[in-house]
Amino acid sequence: MDSTTSSGGSYDELLLGAVIALFVIVVTTALVYRSNTHVGDIIDSDGSKGGSAAVEDTAHNEGVVADTEDEPVEDGSCVPVADHGNEACANCGKHGSDSVKLKNCNACLLVKYCGVDCQKAHWKQHKKACKKRAAKLKDEQLYNQGLERPEGDFCPICTLPIPLPMDEHSLFRACCMKRVCKGCHLAAKKRGMRDCAFCRTTAGNDADDLAMIQARAAKKDPEAILCLGQTYNHGNLGLQKDARKAVELYTEASELGSIQALSSLGYAYLYGDGVQQDKAKAVEFFAKAALQGHAESRYKLGCDEGRKGNFDRATRHFLISAKMGHMDSLEMVKNAFMSGFATKEQYTQALKGYQVAVEETKSHDRDEARRLGY
Ligand SMILES: [Zn+2]
Ligand SMILES: [Zn+2]
Ligand SMILES: [Zn+2]
Ligand SMILES: [Zn+2]
Repeated sequence: MDSTTSSGGSYDELLLGAVIALFVIVVTTALVYRSNTHVGDIIDSDGSKGGSAAVEDTAHNEGVVADTEDEPVEDGSCVPVADHGNEACANCGKHGSDSVKLKNCNACLLVKYCGVDCQKAHWKQHKKACKKRAAKLKDEQLYNQGLERPEGDFCPICTLPIPLPMDEHSLFRACCMKRVCKGCHLAAKKRGMRDCAFCRTTAGNDADDLAMIQARAAKKDPEAILCLGQTYNHGNLGLQKDARKAVELYTEASELGSIQALSSLGYAYLYGDGVQQDKAKAVEFFAKAALQGHAESRYKLGCDEGRKGNFDRATRHFLISAKMGHMDSLEMVKNAFMSGFATKEQYTQALKGYQVAVEETKSHDRDEARRLGY
């Protein structure tokens, strides 16, 4: 059963060596290059460009005026309308009153408009500052959210976070769609319990498992839909392998709130598995999952930035996932530090955070399960 729930993690592990090697090569190349050029050219080359894809022209024009009366965010470095204060329409200069309700530009919150027509008319002039600010807002969110592991990462019996990678340290049950840690699993077994340690359903054969998953999926349980998708993706439990069907199911599961499904979609687009390969789209899905605390997706964001040569951004991602107990991320911060792209302070933070996170996952039962090679 457990193999069907792997999200590409093992594939990822195979690639890890290559990624680290690539990171080191890129870092080394950049170091050599750096000695001949501006530091800023290499390290901060992304700047606002990195996030400029954040706001599409169409999205902006469709999103038009927000329904919020919030004050615009002050930003001295980006004042798009010199002639008007914040309390006037950035296009026509009309001041807000009982009859004229000014509304923020939804994307940047920097300027106000009296209506959609004025916003559209002003767009050409406002576009650059708007995109710059929107990218900055997006970055703030990206690096400040998803710092804690989500609810689904905790064992429902002992309530401790499951060590990463979770597939190695827990068993997923089709009966209840719960991921039980191996410590609790072993403890139940020692008490003579042969059934599911969480819901006590007696384990059945593949056909029973599939029937349970399908029944729950039909009731729109996101984890069951995800699980069914993974089962199709691997061709397990007697199902014909069908990567397209898997992606359909991941999409449905993600819309119903499964964080893991967002990560699985990221992998599908990254490798073109069941969909047309699209690395930018993969990164979008990893970002969505990372914002909800998915450590492996955060790691993938770091790898993506590292590949682009944005080592500062890469390190910031790796630092977050290292602090969640993600070992490969810690390795990456270490590499970055040894190559001169991360500070000693960052590495120390990553190491300490990692150790604390790992410590939090420990229990007597889990230690015993590990000792027994369970
Ligand atoms: Zn106006
Ligand atoms: Zn704007
Ligand atoms: Zn447990
Ligand atoms: Zn169960």
